[in-house]
Formats: sequence, structure tokens, C-alpha cells
Amino acid sequence: MAYDHDWSEDYLFKVVLMGDSAVGKSNLLSRYVRNEFSVNTKATIGVEFQTQSMEIDGKEVKAQIWDTAGQERFRAVTSAYYRGAMGALIVYDISRRQTFESALRWLEELRVYSDASVVTMLVGNKCDLAHLREVSVEEATALAEAESLFFIETSALDSTNVKGAFQTVIKEIYGIVSRKNL
Ligand code: GDP
Ligand code: MG
Repeated sequence: MAYDHDWSEDYLFKVVLMGDSAVGKSNLLSRYVRNEFSVNTKATIGVEFQTQSMEIDGKEVKAQIWDTAGQERFRAVTSAYYRGAMGALIVYDISRRQTFESALRWLEELRVYSDASVVTMLVGNKCDLAHLREVSVEEATALAEAESLFFIETSALDSTNVKGAFQTVIKEIYGIVSRKNL
């Protein structure tokens, strides 16, 4: 066959980034999509999401990844942000205990505004700052198990597990959607 790409096979999933200010959400996204990191990131008002493709089972799977653009500072993320989300990364900073405690509040908010089936990953970012660690892997694992979340530690600075974090969520969504389509 000269032309065998079936466009109906394409997949587009909405994934949202959540978590307190300055935990590294925007840098995780820029590291994943553009392989870039910056020391001074400013919330870019107006840029709502970025799209990144990956291949699963020979199919092009696109993730539309939403960033909070600074509203999280005022805990003013709107319900529209969560609407239609199939995946969520709840990010905290391993060197700031307060941001880990907030993770549970972000999870509650996610559960208010979105479907119970949202694939959710708890992300302990800035694992390059091990000498400043305030949250252990053990307690984060325990929270993730108690709340049925995936868990991973990442560093947007040195790229540790950044791809893995996003791709695990996207693959899991793909698995759920393709089982539904059987
Ligand atoms: P956001 O407010 O959650 O979007 O956080 P940003 O991505 O703007 O990052 C906040 C600050 O943390 C910036 O100064 C980043 O350079 C820094 N940062 C982000 N990720 C990491 C990381 O993995 N390691 C370290 N050491 N710093 C990071
Ligand atoms: Mg940001």
C-alpha cells in the first residue's frame, strides 16, 4: 500500500502540571519539550500548553501539556485548567518540605475538578539538591501508595527522569484508552 497511515489512529491527551510556585513545573516542561532549563523563569502569561509527540505501538501519541502560568501562586487555578485532563503531574520540591505538604491539597483539588480516572504522578523535583533534602523517598513513596499515584524523583536541572515522568503518564493513558477502544 502506498499510503497506509490511518489518521483515525492518532491520539491526543491533555496532561496538567500542578504544584506550588517555584517547584520547577515550567522547567520540567521546557526540559521535556525543548531540552532547555533556565535559572530565572518567569510565568509566561498567555502560553497555556505545549504539545509533544511520542510513538507508542507504532502510533503517534500527542500530549498537550498544560502549565499554570503563575496562577498557582494565588491558588487560583481555574476549573477550565483541569477540564478534560487525562493525566496530571503533581510536583513538589524535595528541598522544601512545605511544597510536599501542599501536594495533598493539589491532589484534593484535582479530584474535585477532574475525572477519578486521571492518571496521576507525584513528582519530587530538584533531586540534584540531595544535600538540601527535606523529603525522603520513603515518605513520598508511602504517600503515593496510599493515594494510588505513580511516584518519581526528577531534576529539570540535570535531566534526571524528566522524560520518564511524562512518558510514564502518557503510556498509562494510552493503555487505558486503547483498552477502552477494543
Ligand atoms: P514553577 O514556578 O513551578 O514553574 O518553577 P520554575 O520552573 O519556574 O522553577 C523555579 C526555580 O527553580 C527556577 O529558579 C529554576 O531554575 C529552579 N529549578 C527548577 N527545576 C530545578 C531542578 O530540578 N533543580 C534545581 N536545582 N533547580 C530547579
Ligand atoms: Mg511556572
